[in-house]
Amino acid sequence: MSTSVKDHQKIQSPPLACPVGEADCVIASEVGELRQNLAELSDLVRTDTLTGIANYRYFLQALEQEIERTQRSGQPTSLIMLDIDFFKKVNDLWGHEIGNQALVHISRLIVQTVRKLDIPCRYGGEEFAVIMPDTDLRACVYGAERIRRAIEEHPLPVAQQALKLTASLGIATFTTNQPITVEELVEEADRYLYEAKDNGRNRVCHAELPILDAVSNEEKQVLSELFGGSQSKKESS
Ligand code: GH3
Ligand code: MG
Ligand code: MG
Repeated sequence: MSTSVKDHQKIQSPPLACPVGEADCVIASEVGELRQNLAELSDLVRTDTLTGIANYRYFLQALEQEIERTQRSGQPTSLIMLDIDFFKKVNDLWGHEIGNQALVHISRLIVQTVRKLDIPCRYGGEEFAVIMPDTDLRACVYGAERIRRAIEEHPLPVAQQALKLTASLGIATFTTNQPITVEELVEEADRYLYEAKDNGRNRVCHAELPILDAVSNEEKQVLSELFGGSQSKKESS
């Protein structure tokens, strides 16, 4: 399961010590409390209130960092943009409160499906993003397909009924050390997301995958350890 915003941010206060070294420092506990409050506030400004996952502000910061990391290390960064299908109908038929429950439900499914180092975010409204550090396009397609399937296979239970939900997903991967901005990466993933909508929704779209002559046993092992799932059924490009 993925970690919280706090885990990603690694907010850690060093052990509290009085700056002038007084053993009975009268303000030490007050400073400790203020530090704690500050850590909680930093966490709050990065968290989406409804779903508890990272918000748009944190998304921008985290993606910027991952782009820089890719430029330094050459390791790829992948980005998934996800938009719930026909969500307006959910609100219209079931009401806004159930719509909100559906957003929480989907955010949990995403968190349960991705890896610990991945960063699921609420991009805004009924759109989510997942930043996948050190992940190439092929591995990201597996991950995105797992998310799509989890949403399709886990309807939201409402009043003894099952509210079926689906989502469309677009992927962009950054592999080179060419300069690229957060906006450009988001735009590319968004283009594939719209393609998924245009092609009938409930699918993952992405750039063409490089042809593999054969997947080695070692690669199979790595993919199965990463995602544990079977190959994409609805994958398209
Ligand atoms: P598409 O498959 O093309 O994405 O159709 P759609 O109905 O999902 O798309 P559209 O953009 O027309 O509608 C998105 C809806 O999401 C409209 C808006 O009221 C709803 N929405 C956005 N944010 C929230 C929220 O925080 N809570 C609830 N309940 N609804 C929200
Ligand atoms: Mg939308
Ligand atoms: Mg939508």
